[in-house]
Amino acid sequence: MADSFGELEASSLFCPRCKRATAVRKKLLLVLPTGNKYDYTCSVCGTQVGGKTDSNSSEFHRVASAARKPLPPPPGRPPC
Ligand SMILES: [Zn+2]
Repeated sequence: MADSFGELEASSLFCPRCKRATAVRKKLLLVLPTGNKYDYTCSVCGTQVGGKTDSNSSEFHRVASAARKPLPPPPGRPPC
């Protein structure tokens, strides 16, 4: 028989507190220049069941550029 379970779902992880695989919530923890750090918590009890860091730095640059406010225009001289 073929594997009826198919692919392992990344959205479901084993929770030590629930003692079974539960749906997880992916939470963005940190945005780093090297990538984003994610936290996986059990959607039932909230226990952290895993985490991962990806190597996608685009989010960092997006956040960094959004935080960089444009400089206010210099005060203009009153017209003579
Ligand atoms: Zn749980």
